[in-house]
Amino acid sequence: MFETTLAGSLPKPAWLSETQKLWPQWKQSGDDLLAAKRDATLLWIKAQEDASLDIVGDGEQSRQHFVHGFLEQVEGIDFDNKVTMGIRNNRYDAQVPQVVSALRLKGRVHAMEAQFARAHTKKKLKFTLPGPLTIVDTVADRFYGDKKAMAMAFAELLNQEALALQADGVDVIQFDEPAFNVYMAEAAEWGVQALEIAARGLTCTTAVHICYGYGIKANTDWKETLGQEWRQYEAIFPALARSSIQQVSLECYHSRVPPELMGLLAGKDVLVGVIDVASDVIETPEQVADTIGRALQWVPKQRLFPCTNCGLAPMSREVAEKKLQALAQGAALARVRYG
Ligand code: ZN
Repeated sequence: MFETTLAGSLPKPAWLSETQKLWPQWKQSGDDLLAAKRDATLLWIKAQEDASLDIVGDGEQSRQHFVHGFLEQVEGIDFDNKVTMGIRNNRYDAQVPQVVSALRLKGRVHAMEAQFARAHTKKKLKFTLPGPLTIVDTVADRFYGDKKAMAMAFAELLNQEALALQADGVDVIQFDEPAFNVYMAEAAEWGVQALEIAARGLTCTTAVHICYGYGIKANTDWKETLGQEWRQYEAIFPALARSSIQQVSLECYHSRVPPELMGLLAGKDVLVGVIDVASDVIETPEQVADTIGRALQWVPKQRLFPCTNCGLAPMSREVAEKKLQALAQGAALARVRYG
């Protein structure tokens, strides 16, 4: 009961890349970079195991950014000529590569880090991929001319990689779709359908993570404009509840999401965000257990997985490590309280 897991990303060590940045520059290259990525993956697996988390991941140590890490292995994308584009409905500008011809995978995308992580932990292993709708919002289109058509093309590539990750021994494949909370109508109309294409044929656990973004200023400023109640999930969850995706990861603690919206996910596992990624204040086990207790009004205990609100990539290593421990300790307390 209350198996703990992370949304996905963790901070990169200072010897691997710049720190506390969303698009950090690598500090190594060639074989040294490969070795450094492996070392960083190993240290975060150890930190997650030391914290007694139940489902661990690679902390996304091998990708510069959660979307562009995937795009780097896609043919038809021009990475040499990035352009500035407003993303997440112009919430902030990003330097994005351009889609210039039909899309095809160059080969495996995440084989190294998935196989390496699998070889170094006996715990359940989760692996994250960007979702189709979020990808099309983080790349400039000079070829397809149609958001949905391009999302479906990416969904096929994601499916190819997801099946290979499953063969690598990954237990949970999660698609990250922060853009679902920005383009709710498109998410419900075809975003969920694209997700199901990405997850087609998988027999491992499938999940989607939908959040209000990393704890960066552009996001915290945006959240201030969203009013007293954040009801974005209300527009998306019914479509997700009808889908074949098994788990939904959502924001809860310190958000203004009405908790009853979790009730729209009947039949799904719910990864409840009990750790705030927009604050360096470490949650107490009591606060974590209280959040779990509130969620239990809407989520059956066998379907509740305590999780972080989002990835921890832009945080300091020290804070992230303490937050992992708070997550595990809070879940342990909740097992005593509500078991
Ligand atoms: Zn997130």
